[in-house]
Amino acid sequence: MTVNKLLSIGSLLTAFIVFSCSQTKDSQPEKAEATIKEEKPLNVIFMIGDGMGLPQITSSFYYKGSPSNFEQFKNIGFIKTSSKSHKVTDSAGGATAFATGSKTYNRAISVSTDTTNMPTILEKLEEKNYKTGLISLTSITHATPACFYAHVKDRDMHEDIAAQLLTSGTDFFAGGGLKYFTKRADGKDLYGDFEKAGYIMDSTSLKNGLDADKKYGFLLAEEGIPSKIDGRGDFLLDATKVALEQLSASDSGYFLMVEGSYIDWGGHAKNAEMMVTEMLDFDKTLGYVLDYVESHENTLLVVTADHETGGVAIGKSDRADSVAVYFTTDQHTAELIPVFAKGEHEDDFRGIYENNEINHKLVDALGNIK
Ligand SMILES: [Zn+2]
Repeated sequence: MTVNKLLSIGSLLTAFIVFSCSQTKDSQPEKAEATIKEEKPLNVIFMIGDGMGLPQITSSFYYKGSPSNFEQFKNIGFIKTSSKSHKVTDSAGGATAFATGSKTYNRAISVSTDTTNMPTILEKLEEKNYKTGLISLTSITHATPACFYAHVKDRDMHEDIAAQLLTSGTDFFAGGGLKYFTKRADGKDLYGDFEKAGYIMDSTSLKNGLDADKKYGFLLAEEGIPSKIDGRGDFLLDATKVALEQLSASDSGYFLMVEGSYIDWGGHAKNAEMMVTEMLDFDKTLGYVLDYVESHENTLLVVTADHETGGVAIGKSDRADSVAVYFTTDQHTAELIPVFAKGEHEDDFRGIYENNEINHKLVDALGNIK
């Protein structure tokens, strides 16, 4: 066979491959499927492990006794977490970046460095008739959940934050912080105001079988819900199940933020048992959510943290077959923080980027919500 003949067979083959590819690309069934998908609103589940850096996640691989649910992720990235005022962020600065898409100073609740209100992803979605939900183990007015619905210049303004939860229109919330609703310095009965506004409120226990057309507020502790080692039980998992059931009952799309709050507190207390137990509780809830995402199309799960807490190392113990947890500080650290994504748009979260870009990626995935 001559070189020319070989070349022409080669070009024919190339032409055939190109032709076949373009045929598949332009075929009608695929186009139709894409159109149907675009019409449905994307559901977003955003899980934040407060203080959950790579060492905390690593601890779930050694202490769980079965595979960590984090092993199920294929699309992983890292975020840089510094705020505008501090290289080492706090939860307020971190959550403001996630909620608004802009970095600010430490202690700010979704206001800019000149204390101007910055709209949040939850507020934008409320305007688009999305269902929204917030779950925290601390007070629902604590920095991480607060940044999704409130705008105040300092994270300790709990009573103002609680009042702004009422005007935010959030459809479901579960956590602690009852005293900021019932025992207020201004004497207002905010709990009663929520009921007057149509919320079904409960300060005793979570309930199943919620009505999709109603709004719910579960405030199950005066301050924080107890930590796992102090007897919390399965609140994080149960609240997540109830919220997903309620929010997904209508077709309007939903945004749910779930915070595993006490991984951070384990780091501040340099308490390895607390840190690991909280991490395993988060991992258990994550397992449920991963199965949920697997069986519910058009849903995106993003899991990350605001910062690492404790400067933790998982190192040698006195036994060759086990490890020990070491703390180098009782403060937050500036480490890169992993981001895990599963479901629709999961590829968008690869790479190394700033914490506020998580918000931009979510907004892009959600389409036109600006
Ligand atoms: Zn902290």
